[in-house]
Amino acid sequence: MDIRIGYGFDSHEFKPGVPLRIGGLTIEHSEGLAGHSDGDVLLHAITDALLGAVSAGDIGSFFPPGDARWKDADSAIFLNVAMEEIQNAGYRIVNLDTTLVLNAPRIGPIAAEMRERVAELLDIAPSHVGIKAKTPEGLGVDHVAQAHAVVLLERIEEPGELQTMSAVMESQRQLEDVVRDLVSQVHGVPVKAPFDTDDIT
Ligand code: MG
Repeated sequence: MDIRIGYGFDSHEFKPGVPLRIGGLTIEHSEGLAGHSDGDVLLHAITDALLGAVSAGDIGSFFPPGDARWKDADSAIFLNVAMEEIQNAGYRIVNLDTTLVLNAPRIGPIAAEMRERVAELLDIAPSHVGIKAKTPEGLGVDHVAQAHAVVLLERIEEPGELQTMSAVMESQRQLEDVVRDLVSQVHGVPVKAPFDTDDIT
């Protein structure tokens, strides 16, 4: 079996006046995490784990902190790009495990919800996502949230096979266009595509 492992780490300092975003959730708390984006420490660690698993660099190489486009950005965007990278490399996620290290808020009561959200973002079953949390005993970083993530990937297709698949799908689309044109010529009225993807926003 062709498998890959990836590891990611991130840390952000707490800061008053910003919403707290962890694991794609907005959490009720007196402070949020400082960062150029929404500061979602867990999604950043997972993004790095995914990119690292396919040797595709890290979050900073894709989204430089100085870039105004990523100011206050939803970190799910970063995660999506990392997902595309692993798909382009021909891999999919087997499972993921994470550990958050922070003093407050307590993650236990919302861990199940966070697991559901992360699983949804990664398009995998919640049973394949681990969310654990602990306090930073003895680390002297009481005003910081840290996240560690490990991910296991397995190969789905050879990149060549993926290209063949997309070529087949493209020719299918072209065929549908031809049939639609023919039908509209016969009936004298334009036939709408069953799904107009441009309309889906
Ligand atoms: Mg970060």
